[in-house]
Amino acid sequence: MASTMARAGWARDPARSRGRRLGAQHDPEGAAAGPEQFRLDRDRIVHSTAFRRLVYKTQVFLNHEGDLFRTRLTHSIEVAQLARTLARSLRLDEDLVEALALAHDLGHTPFGHAGQEALNACMAGHGGFEHNLQSLRVVDVLEATHPGFDGLNLSFEAREGILKHCSRRQASLLLAQEPGGPARRFVEGGAPSLEAQLVDVVDSMAYRLHDIDDGVRSGLIGLDDVAGIPLVGAHWLALEGEGGEGRRRLHEALRRTRTALQQDLVDATLGRLQAGEAAAAAGRTVGHSPALLRQTEALSRWLFARLYRHPQVLASNRMAEEVVRTLFAHHHADAATMPPEFADRADRARAAADYVSGMTDRFAREQHLRLTGRDPFADLAGA
Ligand code: MG
Repeated sequence: MASTMARAGWARDPARSRGRRLGAQHDPEGAAAGPEQFRLDRDRIVHSTAFRRLVYKTQVFLNHEGDLFRTRLTHSIEVAQLARTLARSLRLDEDLVEALALAHDLGHTPFGHAGQEALNACMAGHGGFEHNLQSLRVVDVLEATHPGFDGLNLSFEAREGILKHCSRRQASLLLAQEPGGPARRFVEGGAPSLEAQLVDVVDSMAYRLHDIDDGVRSGLIGLDDVAGIPLVGAHWLALEGEGGEGRRRLHEALRRTRTALQQDLVDATLGRLQAGEAAAAAGRTVGHSPALLRQTEALSRWLFARLYRHPQVLASNRMAEEVVRTLFAHHHADAATMPPEFADRADRARAAADYVSGMTDRFAREQHLRLTGRDPFADLAGA
């Protein structure tokens, strides 16, 4: 089924895709997709192994800390839902937006940003580790589910959108391997597609709001604190005396904040698009009005100070780092401890990073216990 909306001239058009990574001879289904190219990308992402792993990967709260906290999977689904709704209002390509949203966290290590930082430190001297570059590696080469080729053989537009950040040095390396590839805009300049810009903004919108909900659920943020949260606090205060209290009032305040953010994003973005656009060159066409942007930045600072750097979050981050460091050192030192598709590779450091980064929180924790006889998270809970 084609998208139900009328795509605007500013949207990416699947019928004019720059094609798939590998030639049509490897991929008859891709060659036949025509105007359904981006829908095929979306389908391949949903059916990938990497996508299913997101269910046991941490967003902020570790997976074992509670069943109702967001995981990377539920986060990705929330981003996809919000982004698809907004894509319709902005008349962007909904299938491409959904594909990018569902793929945007595929390269994350176990244990959220703590895991990525530990793995990046392990890979110092071996080219480093960055989750965004890893997302592209996952869809290009690591996913091993097709008999005819490595990776998912996604469209250029999907791959370009997945590679949302890239240093110039990394971009030059990628470009040497694939001239004209998705890294080109990081070397030559140029804005990401509007679809990619939207997913990036919505990623932040989604996690800022759901992390408040998870923060309250965990008890690290008190309901007494909500009135002081930038942006959300005003909606919370406006609900005074309206009946709902506690968690219901919080949900309503978050819902109203989200609605306000969505409306502002659509109005500000359509205004810029219809004005014809100097902002496009800077890659900031899709986004909030200056007033709301300042408030979302204040909200981010609040979350860093009160949640992401909460002593309890930092303590479990240290345990996560220890687990990742131990597993990397073990598999790097003895490649035969990894499954053959990793053990047989010439670049042992990259193979170990690929293997460890693909682990879920739960698997990494079990492997660490098996190797060392110690579960640092249990130590933490008992402390
Ligand atoms: Mg995300």
